[in-house]
Amino acid sequence: SDQQIVCTGCGVKIQTETPDELGYAPQSSLEKESVVCQRCFRLKHYNEVQDVGLTDDDFLKIINGIGEKDALIVKIVDIFDFNGSWLPGIQRFAGKNPVILIGNKADLVPKSVKQNKLIEWMKKESKDQGLVPQDVFLVSAAKGKNIRETAAAIDQYRKGRDVYVVGCTNVGKSTFINRIIKEVTGEGDVITTSHFPGTTLDIIQIPLEDGKSLIDTPGIINHHQMAHYVDKRDLKVITPKKEIKPKIYQLNEGQTLFFGGLSRFDYLSGGRRSFTCYLSNELEIHRTKLENASELYEKHAGELLTPPRPEQLDAFPKLVRHEFSIKEAKTDIVFSGLGWVTVNEAGAKVAAHVPEGVHVLLRKSLI
Ligand code: GDP
Repeated sequence: SDQQIVCTGCGVKIQTETPDELGYAPQSSLEKESVVCQRCFRLKHYNEVQDVGLTDDDFLKIINGIGEKDALIVKIVDIFDFNGSWLPGIQRFAGKNPVILIGNKADLVPKSVKQNKLIEWMKKESKDQGLVPQDVFLVSAAKGKNIRETAAAIDQYRKGRDVYVVGCTNVGKSTFINRIIKEVTGEGDVITTSHFPGTTLDIIQIPLEDGKSLIDTPGIINHHQMAHYVDKRDLKVITPKKEIKPKIYQLNEGQTLFFGGLSRFDYLSGGRRSFTCYLSNELEIHRTKLENASELYEKHAGELLTPPRPEQLDAFPKLVRHEFSIKEAKTDIVFSGLGWVTVNEAGAKVAAHVPEGVHVLLRKSLI
């Protein structure tokens, strides 16, 4: 019966069941006179924000609220999972407010990729999604790369307004904001948290010099991200930690590659040719004959083909097949949240199998 208790920091309803979700506080803390949620607690005591997931409804409430403000919106995406971490509809909800786009995790991209080319690609991709950002930046929040420059640019673009930072879970939003906090406050004083008018949502405000704030919104859960279908421990396997080392496969027609047991790539026709896989270095790739592939999966998903883990097999969505004819050279087949396969020359017929609910798409090659 902790339903009535709200966080004295941000006003969110307190719950004691799910640490990753909004409003969590440990049961023991309820005995205190003033209860704060874990997110506010961390911010107050460690000057660190912690990301929590937000339901679609809550997201809509926040995002509708932002449209009514006069603010700068900073939208963060994961450069390694650009489409999977995109927030559809942001342009509508931003209203007249300008948006700055930040591609995080630049450290994962192979060194051979020119940063400028990547930025141009992000601009084009945004435009295709209906968003024309005022500016685009590439950063590595984890490595602290390009953070100072981006913080300075945000400060210019905001022109004395508040800044709202939005992004779906796992893009590195907390890591980014924690970097920014260090930039703007130095070793400075504790950050305040506050209520989002009209709602009880966990919104955190980081005061800026002119009395305005940098406002962190909780991460939005993007349901078709691969991350939601794997065990937390396996998230470490599929999420690249270091610069991706491309793996080149010479395939004959009728050969299949398994990416762990999470996805599958069939080469159907087009003569012997090479494919380049950009996946986490830790994710194992198994090559097999197409004609044996389904049987192999039936027998060995969860063991040879892992992740998923054996105990997760029952809950793991079935793989859904998507067939593509590659019409242009240098086309990427993107397995959302996992990586991509580059088809170097035109004229191949391929099939991609991904867990039901996870997206697969074609794009002009990034690299
Ligand atoms: P949030 O859910 O958006 O707040 O994301 P987090 O800040 O919790 O980060 C999600 C995951 O991405 C964590 O495993 C981080 O270590 C990782 N991460 C964050 N920033 C970077 C980055 O710049 N590069 C890389 N390689 N990983 C990052």
